[in-house]
Amino acid sequence: MIFHSVPKAVQVLFPNRKWSGDPSGNKVYLTFDDGPVPGVTTYVLEQLKIRNQKATFFMVGDNVRKHPELARAVLADGHLIGNHTYHHLKGFKTSKEEYYRDFQKSEDIFREVLGIESRLFRPPYGSLTMAQSSPIRRSHQIIMWDVLSGDYHPKADPEKILFETKKRTKAGSIIVFHDQQKTADMLPKILPQFLDFLLEKEFKTSLL
Ligand SMILES: [Zn+2]
Repeated sequence: MIFHSVPKAVQVLFPNRKWSGDPSGNKVYLTFDDGPVPGVTTYVLEQLKIRNQKATFFMVGDNVRKHPELARAVLADGHLIGNHTYHHLKGFKTSKEEYYRDFQKSEDIFREVLGIESRLFRPPYGSLTMAQSSPIRRSHQIIMWDVLSGDYHPKADPEKILFETKKRTKAGSIIVFHDQQKTADMLPKILPQFLDFLLEKEFKTSLL
């Protein structure tokens, strides 16, 4: 069972987190979590580039340290980079002090390697306590999602994933994909088709 969308009841519990954008226009927000990972992120960049689409990449700090050139390539293509912690931490298993240190470590590597400070944060697994979020919110907007592609279920049927993701995408949607090893085989089966669908429906991919 794959949950492709977040119930409104859950969204209203966390009003300080952004779940979707402006529903009145034609903008949608593509997001890619967990990279940069050689091969996978490279593939995503190619697919976005040939269709002139923009996305926000929530990067794991340790992956930026390992693959700085790939993180720079994401920026050079005009995409946005957000913080996804340094070690891909689980909020409910981490103290608030450790969580904040790890978050800042990502900002340090962004500054060092990319010369930027990010302004967006997405908690890994969507797991973040109130105590963990409050210091982060001083500098960052917390970005959740309303459409989960389910790309990280390697045994799932790509047709079904594509169908469910298209069905839930509407103006203002924040859509989650992952550029990591686990999605390397799935992405070529769903991402080009999904990007073509956005073009066909005249959705405009926008930066958060
Ligand atoms: Zn993640």
